[in-house]
Amino acid sequence: MIRVPLRHSLVTRLLVTSVLIVIAAIVATAWLAASTATRAISQEQGQSLTDDKGVYDMLLGYAATHSDWSGAPALIQARAAKLDRRITLMTLDRAVLADSGPGPSLAAARPSATIDPLNVDTALTGGPLNGDTALTGGAARIDPRAVGPFRVPAAQRDELDKVAADALSCIRKVGAQGRVVDLPNGRPSIVVSGFDPDSYAAGCASKLAFVTTKAEVKPLAQLGRLATSCAGLSAKYRLGVWPDFSVFYASAVDSVKVAEVQPVASASSARISGCVEKARRAMLQAYVAPPALLFVTDPRSGADQTRFTLSRSNTIRIVTVTGGVLLATILVTVLVGYRLVRPLRALTDAADGHRPVPVSTQDEIGRLARALNDSTERRDRAEAQRRAMVSDVAHELRTPLTNIRSWLEAAQDDLAPTDGQLLELLHDEALLLQHIIDDLTDLAAADAGTLRVHPEPTYVRDVLTQVAESHRAPAQAAGVELTIAVQGDPVVTADPVRLRQVVGNLVANGIRYTPAGGSVTLAASEDRISVRDTGVGIAPENLPRIFDRFWRADGSRSRTTGGSGLGLAIARKLTEAHGGTLTAESTLAHGSTFTIRLPAPPPPPATPT
Ligand code: ADP
Repeated sequence: MIRVPLRHSLVTRLLVTSVLIVIAAIVATAWLAASTATRAISQEQGQSLTDDKGVYDMLLGYAATHSDWSGAPALIQARAAKLDRRITLMTLDRAVLADSGPGPSLAAARPSATIDPLNVDTALTGGPLNGDTALTGGAARIDPRAVGPFRVPAAQRDELDKVAADALSCIRKVGAQGRVVDLPNGRPSIVVSGFDPDSYAAGCASKLAFVTTKAEVKPLAQLGRLATSCAGLSAKYRLGVWPDFSVFYASAVDSVKVAEVQPVASASSARISGCVEKARRAMLQAYVAPPALLFVTDPRSGADQTRFTLSRSNTIRIVTVTGGVLLATILVTVLVGYRLVRPLRALTDAADGHRPVPVSTQDEIGRLARALNDSTERRDRAEAQRRAMVSDVAHELRTPLTNIRSWLEAAQDDLAPTDGQLLELLHDEALLLQHIIDDLTDLAAADAGTLRVHPEPTYVRDVLTQVAESHRAPAQAAGVELTIAVQGDPVVTADPVRLRQVVGNLVANGIRYTPAGGSVTLAASEDRISVRDTGVGIAPENLPRIFDRFWRADGSRSRTTGGSGLGLAIARKLTEAHGGTLTAESTLAHGSTFTIRLPAPPPPPATPT
């Protein structure tokens, strides 16, 4: 079998095409999935986080200003309806405080946040609490809205407002801008804006922080005491706290003299401010709602708070890209399929119309087309041979049959005597018929591959002698001399009966086509057997055709002694069945030589010495 080079193979082309399609589809799908999911998730997350933060901040504000959660349900209900979320509030022991609607149990769910105004989740509020660094000292995680006992009643604000007004004019004097804002504890505060290179304006504004109202004195003093005992200072000092919760050391003897204030050293500042915050938390405890767990969930699916639905633009992207990939796949497949099928169609059409198939490619289809052409050619040749053969057979059988019939009819009509001579004539014709039929049988067997030969070591001299003897009589009758010339004692591996048939055919031809006075020589040497005559010879243009079935030179056709035209064809078939060759050389009017070459016999087994 001839193999198609891999580069031309249909399998390779199909493989390359499908691999390319698959790679394109995978890349497109992966890109689409990654980009769409990323977009959708960030969109969803952004939205859900904003929602969560809003709810968190609202509830944190409530908790900072109420000592219990009794007002929470109404608040939650309204916000849940607005956001289309389920909002649930639980105690730290997971007892439901408020729930915006029914839904799956959240007993095992992860809370969105813990709401504790004294321990604010800065990740959810996004940085320092409400920007109120003035009040908290920047470090506290206590919601500034939780003011508790530190509230300044409106009646005591006059003094503070006056200081604030002074501070504002001081700020304007240094050329900066400022404005007053109200803090959750009822104190005014000043926000400086504009260019302030030397912090003069900040200095003007800071005065306000050191003014303590009557209402604040007691709670701040208590805060100082608690912080002092927490910090474990030497007996000489105690801690004081300003209204903005910044700390100072004060003499244990006289607490209110600002002149004796010493700033807190930075090494101990973390511990000290931790103590202040702890003390503040303890004081505020009673004023704020207890910590609670917040759950913001999907009212439909339950515990998972992150809904994943595709936006319109993402859906369009997915549909467009997948549609594009699908379309490209279909297009490429159709194109490749069409290219593959086109030569097959041409092949079918050509085969249907008994025309030669056009061969245009080197691939499997090209090979198929070539094979189909070869087979059609062989079939046509065989068909022509078959027709010629049938007509030849009919022709060959007709002559002896016509002879037999004519003789018989003449006898019936008493035109010929029914004597021994007539019987001999009829017998000769019947023998000729028999001969033709035997030859045809041999040829048919050779064609079918069932021609059996039984090779054995055969002495060539014996075979030639036997053939010469059996042809002695006709040779004498024709006036042709028969001689044998054997060099040495050659042995061949051949079926002796078939070898006699081959040599016999050649000798019969030699006698037949040699005029009286000529000779036929049966010669043999180590590697060949030849039959040489001094007869009429064969024209060079006829030489290639003498082995064809039923072929005869025109001259021999007219001869009464002419054979069937099958003899040489059979002789060659038989030689080939032995694995040998039969060739002819001839010179017109000088004679012909037919040479048989048989494969050398295997060497005799070595004889032990
Ligand atoms: P046929 O029965 O006619 O001899 P063959 O197949 O034996 O058929 O030979 C085919 C033809 O080859 C013969 O008809 C003859 O024309 C030619 N031929 C065969 N042998 C010889 C020969 N020895 N000398 C000249 N012509 C020959």
